Amino acid sequence: MKETVNILDFLPEELEEYINPMFRVKQIYQWIYQKYADNFLEMTSLPKNLREKLNENYHFNPLKIIYKEQSKDGSIKYLFELKDGLRIESVLLPMKEEKFDEKGVKIAHAKYTICVSSQVGCKSGCSFCLTAKGGLKRNLSAGEIVAQILCIKKDNQIPYERRVNIVYMGMGEPLDNLNNVSKAIKILSHNDGLCISPRRQTVSTSGLANQIKKLGEMNLGVLLAISLHAVNDTLRNELMPINKAYNIASIMQAVREFPIDQRKRVMFEYLLIDNINDKIDHAKELVKLLNGIKAKVNLILFNPHEGSFYKRPNLENAIKFQDYISSKGITCTIRESKGLDISAACGQLKERKKNELA
Ligand code: SAH
Ligand code: SF4
Repeated sequence: MKETVNILDFLPEELEEYINPMFRVKQIYQWIYQKYADNFLEMTSLPKNLREKLNENYHFNPLKIIYKEQSKDGSIKYLFELKDGLRIESVLLPMKEEKFDEKGVKIAHAKYTICVSSQVGCKSGCSFCLTAKGGLKRNLSAGEIVAQILCIKKDNQIPYERRVNIVYMGMGEPLDNLNNVSKAIKILSHNDGLCISPRRQTVSTSGLANQIKKLGEMNLGVLLAISLHAVNDTLRNELMPINKAYNIASIMQAVREFPIDQRKRVMFEYLLIDNINDKIDHAKELVKLLNGIKAKVNLILFNPHEGSFYKRPNLENAIKFQDYISSKGITCTIRESKGLDISAACGQLKERKKNELA
């Protein structure tokens, strides 16, 4: 069978070169992203010969659901297979339940966040992360990133206009795949597509300072999250070898220069690991580092995995840590362990299923 091209890889202006007039491209976009069509042949507002031509040359299903698992808290973790047989994970996280009044009329919609992968594997080599284990296999294309959101919305029948937040916190380092990630951000935010504003999309990075600068220069309007995890370079070098190339000072400098909406803040993720970085002295250093930055802190409790050397901190210490940061006027949350019972952190479902589903 002839190899077809993933149409999700293209912005409308790029498709116009092959498909015209432009309003046809707009219709195709709407069929795919808004009406959740399953194939080109059912796009009945298009002329038959165009539908056939599209069917011969393109596809928009680069992912196969290999496995999905629902946690008690409602989050659903997906294991997808790509066309070349490699596998990635994504997670649907329900943030708020829908609400009904006493007559049973819906008064508030459910709110969702989707956590997507940007690479197969990762080359950053963080010592606590399972994704780091096999190194980097390859970058995901823009269309493979977009497909994770499309597929999850479709699978859960979430109407296209129901806004979801996107976090690039699945497998991989998004800023090591900046071209495709930035393109995915644009495709996802397109008005004829899923309309997910860049302000609802958060790029999480291990701190590639030069790439943070480039992302800022693109002025996309996305939000930034920094996986800091340590407050001095000695410890950070140990936890995150990428720190040897971009130390804490260089990351902070890049963050200070990053363009961000007046009302928004840069999120600093801080992975609490028992007896390594969870003491009040660390919290004090963290507050000093964030001085002058519009920041919020998200504490993550280390999620142990097989063979991991580190331990999960106790909740009491985490709360003390949180209280200290909050007392200094910095918003600080503890990330709920959503999906802990379903292998929460990135890379863990894939690893667990590797043998079972091989
Ligand atoms: N590469 C990017 C985005 C993907 S990782 C980054 O590092 O920011 C998303 C988040 O999961 C990061 O904050 C990462 O530190 C965290 N993480 C990795 N392994 C984890 C584990 N075992 N337990 C809890 N969080 C983990
Ligand atoms: Fe890569 Fe992020 Fe995992 Fe580090 S934490 S290895 S940067 S995916």
